[in-house]
Amino acid sequence: MTSDSFDGLGLSEPLRRALRSENYLKPTPIQVQAIPRLIEGSDLLGIAQTGTGKTAAFALPILQRLATQRLQRSPRRPHALILAPTRELAGQIGERFRAYGRGLDLRSAVIFGGVGQGQQVRALTQGVDILIATPGRLLDLYAQRHVSFDAVSILVLDEADRMLDMGFIRDVRKIVAACRKERQTLLFSATMPPDIAKLAQEILRNPVRIDVSPAIVSGERIDQSVYFVQAQAKRDLLTALLADPGMDRVLVFTRTKHGADRVCKFLRQADLSAEALHGNKAQNARVRSLEAFRSGRARILVATDIAARGIDVPLISHVINYELPNEPESYVHRIGRTARAGAGGSAISFCDPSERPFLLAIEGLTKRPVAVADHRFAQGGPVPGRHPDRSAATPSGKRPRRFGGRRNKPVFGSKGAPARSRAAI
Ligand code: AMP
Repeated sequence: MTSDSFDGLGLSEPLRRALRSENYLKPTPIQVQAIPRLIEGSDLLGIAQTGTGKTAAFALPILQRLATQRLQRSPRRPHALILAPTRELAGQIGERFRAYGRGLDLRSAVIFGGVGQGQQVRALTQGVDILIATPGRLLDLYAQRHVSFDAVSILVLDEADRMLDMGFIRDVRKIVAACRKERQTLLFSATMPPDIAKLAQEILRNPVRIDVSPAIVSGERIDQSVYFVQAQAKRDLLTALLADPGMDRVLVFTRTKHGADRVCKFLRQADLSAEALHGNKAQNARVRSLEAFRSGRARILVATDIAARGIDVPLISHVINYELPNEPESYVHRIGRTARAGAGGSAISFCDPSERPFLLAIEGLTKRPVAVADHRFAQGGPVPGRHPDRSAATPSGKRPRRFGGRRNKPVFGSKGAPARSRAAI
């Protein structure tokens, strides 16, 4: 099913107006399929990850239904509850609800751990229609009777597989059990491990099933390439690539929190505006980093896999895998951060000798080889984004230094083999 506009999907004028001001011209496939069925009240099983437009696919019908039903708002008794694995994702879903619902008289609040609960309790006491929450803090507040779920008529579990990975599934089950039985339930998950399939079967009634493959598989344009490089040469390679002004909003991935801090520090020393995002940072520091990146004040965000999940920054021009992930699925999630909702993007990976097995696993999962970056670089040739006159020789007139330390030996590129063409997947 395709649709060229939001007109035929059954959304009210205030919502369509909000979409116009967001500059959403065309619904994404999951929006076309989900919105009309959710407005009718169906349950839904959505196999979809971030980047497909899934948030709007559930937020718009929820806003539409609640606005039509005009339910009485009462303290501590939300009508719609959305559970998300991380505070970043919860915050962003909350922000989307506010953006889409600005023409409607509906109130929402976001609840997550790691910050004081006072403000959250106050919001609940004043009464909210829509509550977006991470499971741990929500259960805490439930145990303290600051919130009840007996008025929840729409329940959404977002990124259910991630909630399972993060050990939240028992909390989720407790919350679901406390919700009223007559309700509409939506479950979104990028993958369907047995525990999630079982949960879906238990809590969904005759769900519509929508399967939107990840961007990488569904043919969105992501230019992927890999540099074979020694670990100690990665910094030089990174700064050389960042000399390209076309890299205007860059998400750099590391495997560890310390790695993220180290790369961020080194980039700052090189006079590049960078922020780090990982779970060791205090919540307000994370919000600040993300805001600096989102506003463009920081051109580069260095993040770990978990921290980056759910962050919603449109128009990321490049994803750089400074370290390859040891789980191939993470690669797909990482590169899906660029080329979001139809825009093109580039993903560049650095692969040192110890990471070769990770690359093989990734290629096994995606069923495509990742193109080896231009082999001229292996010969100490021009660096992308640099003016050819300057890249052929250093200011001292010498050939530019190769990335990798050992002289006379190419360290990235495929040992002098002709480069494969860039794969636009
Ligand atoms: P999501 O998959 O919900 O995380 O959304 C991914 C990104 O796409 C977000 O930045 C949304 O604001 C954006 N988006 C969602 N739907 C559309 C649409 N129909 N047109 C343009 N951008 C969209």
